[in-house]
Amino acid sequence: MTTYFSYPDQALQDELRRIANAITAKGKGILAADESVSTMGKRLADIGVENTDENRRKYRQLLFTTDKSISEYISGVILFHETLYQKADDGTPFINLIKERGIIAGIKVDKGVVPLMGSEGESTTQGLDDLSQRCAQYKKDGCDFAKWRCVLKIGKNTPSYQGMLENANVLARYASICQMNGLVPIVEPEVLPDGEHDLDRAQKVTETVLAFVYKALNDHHVFLEGTLLKPNMVTAGQSCPKKYTPEEVAKATVVTLSRTMPAAVPGVTFLSGGQSEEEASVHLDAINKCVEAKKPWALTFSYGRALQASVLRAWGGKDESVKGGQDELLKRAKANSEAAQGIYQWGTCKGYAADTGLFIKDHAY
Ligand code: 13P
Repeated sequence: MTTYFSYPDQALQDELRRIANAITAKGKGILAADESVSTMGKRLADIGVENTDENRRKYRQLLFTTDKSISEYISGVILFHETLYQKADDGTPFINLIKERGIIAGIKVDKGVVPLMGSEGESTTQGLDDLSQRCAQYKKDGCDFAKWRCVLKIGKNTPSYQGMLENANVLARYASICQMNGLVPIVEPEVLPDGEHDLDRAQKVTETVLAFVYKALNDHHVFLEGTLLKPNMVTAGQSCPKKYTPEEVAKATVVTLSRTMPAAVPGVTFLSGGQSEEEASVHLDAINKCVEAKKPWALTFSYGRALQASVLRAWGGKDESVKGGQDELLKRAKANSEAAQGIYQWGTCKGYAADTGLFIKDHAY
């Protein structure tokens, strides 16, 4: 086996490291607002708003015109392709609003999941074919990082070797293509919470999935200091009869990461995965308070549902409620900023949808 390799040149390494460190700066995290058109349609349907280009634009305008103090809590925002090129009512491109707030723009570059033949309902994620050209264009258009989501399921015979190998490899190919084009790849292998499995099983599966991912990143010479990991927190399955405390979830999560995630990676930006807003804040806080294993990385949030559920309900599609929606975003972003530092007082952030379960079966993004 030959071991020839070459990492990116020094200037590119410095650029990637700078972006990854800025995203995971102390007390800051990511707003994942990259719902595809159909996923956004489901969010809008929940509040009785029609899924039109204009309604999606208005909703994203609400997010990106939130008071500039949002940048104390939010370092990055992930966009969907359509949103990157939309403008506010006064003609200001969204990307300018985001940059004016000192927030780093990211872009979802995967094209969704497709079935793996011969597997028990497993999938891989597509979108590699023209990825390099798209990344180059996104970098020119103001993005500095990207996201690609892979999905793994816990079942009797899953995740399979095939599923873990394929998803790790496609994540590594994506990551290397991003880095060639100056984008920090957020590597997202999401182990879904669907199922009856207990916390131990979730932990072992997440450990194995992450071990596959870091092997593949090494195989593809990905520069780890210029990447971020977006994993699931280690929680028991949604239908598991046994309930676990936030401290137990935190310990399982931190031990998993300590066993599998290299110290070279600057940070973890957890997905919320169907937890309620308050659960996602409490779990992140418990993770940051946990002293059961070494934690050489930033541990923060990249939440979609758990940052937007209250915002959507407070807004309800009404122009006069834009400010109400923005206030919900500021409140929950502040709570998560505190959680990312392990200083959140549980139960103190009351939102429109704080305790509402946000679980969606077999969730697509
Ligand atoms: P949730 O926080 O809603 O799980 O979504 C985050 C995300 O970006 C999933 O790809």
